[in-house]
Amino acid sequence: MITITTKLVALLGEPLGHSLSPAMHNRLYKEMGLDFYYLPIEVAADNLEVIFSAMKKMNFAGCNITIPHKVAIIDLLDELDPLAATIGAVNTIQFNNGKAKGFNTDGYGFLRSLEEEGGITPSEKKFLIFGSGGAARAIAMTLAQENAAQILLCNRTKEKASALAADINHKIRCCADVIEMDTATIAKYAAEAEVLINTTSIGMSPNNDLSPCPAACINADHIVADIVYNPHNTTLLRQAAKKGATIVHGLGMLVWQGAAAFTLFTEKEPDITLMRKEAASFL
Ligand code: NAP
Repeated sequence: MITITTKLVALLGEPLGHSLSPAMHNRLYKEMGLDFYYLPIEVAADNLEVIFSAMKKMNFAGCNITIPHKVAIIDLLDELDPLAATIGAVNTIQFNNGKAKGFNTDGYGFLRSLEEEGGITPSEKKFLIFGSGGAARAIAMTLAQENAAQILLCNRTKEKASALAADINHKIRCCADVIEMDTATIAKYAAEAEVLINTTSIGMSPNNDLSPCPAACINADHIVADIVYNPHNTTLLRQAAKKGATIVHGLGMLVWQGAAAFTLFTEKEPDITLMRKEAASFL
């Protein structure tokens, strides 16, 4: 039951129809006996400032931020975590005494899932990343910070990949480059990479049959990660598993980025198994 003492947490974005975060967080609050409630609030860009200012004066412990506000919200914060500043986007905000501090837990979420399912840390590894949007930015910046040997970006809009590579090389370390999105080029660089990551929405439901990477470019030594979590086994992951590659599902990133946010809101460690079970029940 929501009472006057209940701490609120919100997800701000537009549209929000697909989000699993409210269910994941609310299940944990209930099981852990925490007087918290997580609610989705669809917010258009024009209303972001007024709604966010009101939340700072209300009983909110924090909020998650999703498309399209992850960059715009930065101007409304009182404080910014250094990693979120480097990434240039925020997905989690903690409210404390009327002040808002922004974090980005997406890269951390990916790292934990890579460790858990892929069995590796990024240090000295070569990565080929499909996509250069918001999630790619958080992941690539975090991998560079974690001492990745090489990060190659392959994106439909090459200018966006070039801008991200330049940002990584300038802000962190000179380890990023861009490749063309054609089969011959992907085959050449995939053969040299240890980890292939899909950060595009290619393969996401209802386009389940699509993959960003030709199956012929995948081999048994690869670790192949797909951050798309619906469907759970994307075409890319199914093709990779057939080749004997190690696969990393998108659900892991979703759960671990949510776990980090949960701790920022409640100052408690979540039950990861329960979080995963709740999220998976919707897929
Ligand atoms: P975004 O900022 O909009 O970026 C989308 C990326 O996908 C861009 O690189 C875009 O290329 C590419 N793309 C989209 N449609 C394409 C197509 N038909 N052909 C080729 N490239 C295409 O979105 P995002 O926030 O990074 O999210 C991307 C995906 O990751 C979504 O499926 C989202 O659900 C998933 N995601 C998962 C998690 C998780 O926790 N597992 C977290 C965040 C996001 P252009 O630059 O050319 O447009």
